[in-house]
Amino acid sequence: MALKKPASVEECIYFTNRSIGSGMAMAWVFRKECPKCGKDVLRKPSTKSGKPDKKSPTYVCKSCRYVENNEKVENDLVINIEYKCPHCGNEGEATSEYKRKSFEGVPSYVFKCQKCHKKIGLTKKLKEKKKKGKEED
Ligand SMILES: [Zn+2]
Ligand SMILES: [Zn+2]
Repeated sequence: MALKKPASVEECIYFTNRSIGSGMAMAWVFRKECPKCGKDVLRKPSTKSGKPDKKSPTYVCKSCRYVENNEKVENDLVINIEYKCPHCGNEGEATSEYKRKSFEGVPSYVFKCQKCHKKIGLTKKLKEKKKKGKEED
């Protein structure tokens, strides 16, 4: 199994690359292809200032104007992960649902190491987000 990697972060709705203890993980979620025209991807609509409206309850296709609500889009997305396990050092790939679950009390995308089957969490990075001054996801 080889995961398809994004050519640029622009193709992704979520992208992160981080160390986890003695391991690391790179994770990405591709934007959903428009189910109506298949020519474009679904994105958050733009605000008046031209920036994506992250609070919008819907995603739109800029080519055909198809609209789908957030829940439906996000239920169809998968998170792709390339990792080095912080528990056993195994290097592998995994996919998981694009849904945050509570992991050690922190909302995280959770996946399992294929070798030692321990859970690994991609926690929401609150501190770094503040430092960089931009929303990571
Ligand atoms: Zn479309
Ligand atoms: Zn492991």
